[in-house]
Amino acid sequence: MTEHNSKLFIETVGCQMNMLDSELVVAALRKQGYELTADVAEADTVLFNTCSVREHAEHKIYSALGRLKFSKQARPQQVIGVMGCMAQKDQELIFQRAPHVDLVVGTGQLGEIPRLIGEARTDRKRTVAVSLDRRDGTRNEVSQSFQSYDPLREPEMRPSPFQAFVRIMFGCDKFCTYCVVPMTRGPEQSRSPADILHECRVLADQGVLEVTLLGQTVNSYKYVENGRTWRLADLLAAMHDIPGLVRLKFVTNYPRDMTDELLQAVRHLPKCSRYLHVPAQSGCDDLLKKMKRGYTIGEYREMHGRIRATLPDAGVSSDFIVGFCGESDEAHNKSLDLIREFRFKNSFIFKYSPRPGTKAFDLLPDDVPEDVKRARNHEMLAVQNQISAEDNVAFIGRTVEVLVEGPSRNAEKRGETDATAGPVQLTGRTSCDRIVVFPGNPRLAGSLARIQIEDGTATTLLGSIVTREYQHGSSALLPILA
Ligand code: SAM
Ligand code: SF4
Repeated sequence: MTEHNSKLFIETVGCQMNMLDSELVVAALRKQGYELTADVAEADTVLFNTCSVREHAEHKIYSALGRLKFSKQARPQQVIGVMGCMAQKDQELIFQRAPHVDLVVGTGQLGEIPRLIGEARTDRKRTVAVSLDRRDGTRNEVSQSFQSYDPLREPEMRPSPFQAFVRIMFGCDKFCTYCVVPMTRGPEQSRSPADILHECRVLADQGVLEVTLLGQTVNSYKYVENGRTWRLADLLAAMHDIPGLVRLKFVTNYPRDMTDELLQAVRHLPKCSRYLHVPAQSGCDDLLKKMKRGYTIGEYREMHGRIRATLPDAGVSSDFIVGFCGESDEAHNKSLDLIREFRFKNSFIFKYSPRPGTKAFDLLPDDVPEDVKRARNHEMLAVQNQISAEDNVAFIGRTVEVLVEGPSRNAEKRGETDATAGPVQLTGRTSCDRIVVFPGNPRLAGSLARIQIEDGTATTLLGSIVTREYQHGSSALLPILA
């Protein structure tokens, strides 16, 4: 079935898992003849890929849906779909709040989207396609109702020719008391190594240099097959042998599952990025217990010590929640101390947002006032930014290896994307995930370059090219002449 000249508008909010889901859905629809448009007014199919982790992300989508009410009246043939976490969580409620929506498709039904859009257009009936609630079946039944959606993609359908996300796990069983993900993405399930490695080989053949493995707790990966247990370290070792790949990354790590075996794998496999995102969430044991994170600060410190001992130059980053239930000034200060002690490369800091369906929502009062949450958020960011800036400034004078991604966002905003008028500002990342900007020719995108660092801010290193070393798509890391 081919749609003719159908225009698709898609808005994606949330994490990298959502970005990957959108990429896969867009690829499937483009295969059917859909064309992407950035103008919602000219779209005959509008999709929102949604996030439920914080209330704010949901408000954003409900407001966007509200604005579409009149455009739908003007274009009754338009199909409006809500997919992802909010679809799984709110289900029919979405029709009550936005009656002009046609489709609600959960995280476990994404493969159905092309068919459902076609049916919505011809039958003009509303559809909800979601997985079982975690309490509505056995673990097996619920798991089966969440279908992982990982079709192979054609190269021209990928947003970057040389970087790709690959899902290795979906769902989560950790049930941190504040978090809605175990409900919206279902039980923790690991994909088979054969599927993952096949996908990585295909991507490498298509010219992908950098693969980022995705999982809510990616280092909890476990797959048992023919009596052999595969862990993340085994996957990385197998991926390391794939010709063409030059960088392997993985996010997000769960502190308790940071094994020595994994750290040794990262140390001994040169393609592994020296970057570990291991969210601490809080610096206070009482709060960690209320969050049900499963570790104490002492245990986090022990884990962090093992990272530093095994990978002294790794960039370690964290997430923090400020203003969680019962968080006192003293508890907040302990989180600040933790940032000072571990000197994270960067931290993502979130104000606690109570989420219906979670333990914290049902059992713990949201008792930290909004203005206190805001002040703590600012204070924590200021402490983190100062550390990030100090550690970035320490790079001045060093030469780092960068995978060049292309023109920086600023260059793109200024419309500087070709080099006819001289070098443009390019951006890339080091193995330890530091962002580097430098002048150069956009043709360098997809190559590894050595950059001399001349300045640094809290978020960025600035420098200039010393040599361009490795060419995009080369099967070995062969130096080429600049
Ligand atoms: N699975 C990852 C982990 O455990 O680190 C990340 C999952 S979540 C999508 C990303 C971050 O959102 C979490 O690390 C946490 O800091 C934050 N988060 C989750 N639930 C939240 C809530 N109810 N309010 C505020 N922040 C929240
Ligand atoms: Fe949410 Fe905790 Fe699972 Fe991360 S580990 S997705 S924070 S429940």
